[in-house]
Amino acid sequence: MKILEFARKEKMVTNNFPVVPYEVTDGFRGKPEYTYDLCIGCGSCVVACPSNALSLKKDEEKGVARWKVDYNRCIFCGRCDEVCPTRAISMSKEYVMCVLFDKEDLTVTGELKLKRCDTCDVYFTTERMSNYTYQKLVSAGWDIAGIDEKMKHLNTCPDCRQEKAVAVNVNQMKKRGV
Ligand code: SF4
Ligand code: SF4
Repeated sequence: MKILEFARKEKMVTNNFPVVPYEVTDGFRGKPEYTYDLCIGCGSCVVACPSNALSLKKDEEKGVARWKVDYNRCIFCGRCDEVCPTRAISMSKEYVMCVLFDKEDLTVTGELKLKRCDTCDVYFTTERMSNYTYQKLVSAGWDIAGIDEKMKHLNTCPDCRQEKAVAVNVNQMKKRGV
């Protein structure tokens, strides 16, 4: 009875959604928006995503890493926003996500050029990730010679780095006569 009385007085008891969207407050966790230009393909968001809404897959034939968000799986937790080092993915206030026929319309992808290992030539990271690391060293105040030396190490894949580290250790042990 109270509801009917309220409706009689107010004339309108529901919002005119979706013609007039609901207003949301600051801090609202809506759709995570992807900014391709900022993405370095580090994969941190993929590791943090609890619902497997994010993926980053290597396509060796094309020489690219394919980043993808599937909003069908997203639970709007905001973990991707928290861990992304470049703000390439961040929570927006957008919450209306409807598609008529194809669920693929609720996905966004970005292709990032892969980088080969300087030693064994396998793809192991993205070009952007390598450039990002370089820029980080520059902004941390490293001198160019130091950066070049560090990049020689970082431009090799984890397997080659491991092999090199083992070889160095074995040589040191031999010198010590162990
Ligand atoms: S908001 Fe959460 S569930 Fe959605 S893509 Fe980001 S980490 Fe995954
Ligand atoms: S969106 Fe951010 S965290 Fe995810 S791969 Fe791109 S740079 Fe890394």
